[in-house]
Amino acid sequence: MKFQLSVSAGFAKLAKIRKESIVVEIPTTMSIFEKDGNSFWKIGEEDNSITMGLPASSLHQKQPEFGDEDLSFIANILMQRSLNPSLIEKQLAKTRELMTEYLETIPQEKATILIQPTDSTEILKQVLQMIKDFEIKNIAITNMLPLLNNQRQAVSFLAGISSFLPVDSILYLLSPVPHTFWPILAYAGIDVFNNGYAGIASKQSMYLTDFGGIDLASLSEKPCFCEACNSVSQLSELLMPDPKSSDQTLLEKHNTLIATKKIREIRNALRNSDLRSYVEQMIHSNVFSGAVLRLLDKHHNDGIISRTPTWKSSLIKHITEYSYYRPEIQEFQRRIRDRYQIRGSKKVVVIFPCSARKPYSFSKSHGKFLNTLGSISNKKRGYIQELILTSPLGVIPRELEMVYPAAHYDIPVTGDWSHEEKEIAVKQLTTVLSKAKTSKLSVIAHVSNEYVELCKDAEKQLKMKFKYTASSDKTTSSASLSLLYNELNSIVKDQEPKIYRSDMELIQTIADYQYGSGIGQEMFKENCRIRSKPNQPQFIMQDKKQIGVIQPTTGKLSLTLETGKTLAEKEKYFVLFDDEELEGSTLFAVGVNDADPQIRPTDSVVILNKKRELVGVGNAIISVKDMKEAKRGPAVKIKQKA
Ligand SMILES: [Zn+2]
Repeated sequence: MKFQLSVSAGFAKLAKIRKESIVVEIPTTMSIFEKDGNSFWKIGEEDNSITMGLPASSLHQKQPEFGDEDLSFIANILMQRSLNPSLIEKQLAKTRELMTEYLETIPQEKATILIQPTDSTEILKQVLQMIKDFEIKNIAITNMLPLLNNQRQAVSFLAGISSFLPVDSILYLLSPVPHTFWPILAYAGIDVFNNGYAGIASKQSMYLTDFGGIDLASLSEKPCFCEACNSVSQLSELLMPDPKSSDQTLLEKHNTLIATKKIREIRNALRNSDLRSYVEQMIHSNVFSGAVLRLLDKHHNDGIISRTPTWKSSLIKHITEYSYYRPEIQEFQRRIRDRYQIRGSKKVVVIFPCSARKPYSFSKSHGKFLNTLGSISNKKRGYIQELILTSPLGVIPRELEMVYPAAHYDIPVTGDWSHEEKEIAVKQLTTVLSKAKTSKLSVIAHVSNEYVELCKDAEKQLKMKFKYTASSDKTTSSASLSLLYNELNSIVKDQEPKIYRSDMELIQTIADYQYGSGIGQEMFKENCRIRSKPNQPQFIMQDKKQIGVIQPTTGKLSLTLETGKTLAEKEKYFVLFDDEELEGSTLFAVGVNDADPQIRPTDSVVILNKKRELVGVGNAIISVKDMKEAKRGPAVKIKQKA
């Protein structure tokens, strides 16, 4: 069986399992069926499914004799904490022997192991290490239902597994968990869900909806138009057997369709690179989801961020208060704090408010701000740095306004900033200003209303004085704009005339954001300029030669062999493979020896051969941990070879 990753999204993933002509796309569902007195699991949907054989009871340790199922049980790891620790140790040693024995006859890719939640991180670690040592890729989880009332333990168990095992591992949840829990569980790393709850609910006359279940008797109107619901005139008729399938009622058919819909919505969200928004939309369907999301954001962000693509073009919808802590947003803020530096040549920083329209410079208000800056002599313009103050990202230097997610988020602008929003914005602003290496940097706050309060806060913390230029609370009035012009002009007019190289500043700032503070100036030493047409990539030209590209939808700088040299020399954002020459268009995980831990999916990286020579550039597909540990699937899409 082949494993092919399509999208990695934090602990979740969209992937294909192929067996000859059968393709099972995960996340998916599984259902139990009986054959010759044995229970099997069918994984996937009707025409495209594979089978898994498991013992009848989760306490059994013996391998059932099924024959030709696609996934075979090799061990049941007993790891509940209620068991005596020395007993667990003994049990693990025995399991290890058993697994070694089974793996002599069962191919690695088929091997499936059964585990249950434990509240001991120590035991979990030992078990996971064993799974990793044996290179087991199929992990079935039982006894999960009690954890639906214990979010803390659920998170530590699931995130523990997801962050430890490589991305080509598949987690099968055997417990019949209600469908409303699936989005958050998928976000925590579950790949395959038992749809047994649809049957359980129908036996209790429970009619499932997108957000939960309702007692069929309390429903007075049909809320659904599926095949089952359409075939009856009275809701009570749903309790009758489905004429097309003898072993289920029409209600079970409806309930199963609702569960199937949920899994397809999860897959669609992953395909559109935005499972997070979908999870947030579903958060109010049960208490568990909100608590788990909060705990994941708080305690497992590093693991989630490492597998979250850096570059996307999809819009971030700011839906709930959870949206402030989205991994993309936290990572953007961190990079601004760690990698962005106001250039030493700047004499004045001007702070602008954000606009609803993105990128900001396309908005009416920023059009006016830019006009005002444009009337400063071009030989003095280079002394001015623009910063845009916004929620939830904090501070965005003008040069990064096209970069994901700066131009890709949508938040209702109400004018009321929450305490959290204020705190984040002030922290970002004070960090950026306090890191500036310029002595005597003036700060102009061209802001109004709630933004003034934020700037005052920052002034206090920085022990600095800002100049406020927006009169009567209107930043775009001609009085405010002329005050802004006068203030700026009075600061820069006596400076030495100097050519303003805006293209260079843009390119270098993006390179710093991508690769680290100071990299931009080393990567682009000679004068470069940008050649661009609307909605097309911006080409970075040096002496008529194209040495890089800025992608129009993400703002990402794509490397060429020329610009890759800087990273290769410093061994930054490198992937090292275990051969001398690159072949084909994909570098597979199994061939990767080492890589820079900072690399995340979609990052533009340099590829080094085993002599540490630059042999190519490409886009990372998986995280660094996965490049080193996964045994299956692609690691880097090669874009250019030496
Ligand atoms: Zn229906």
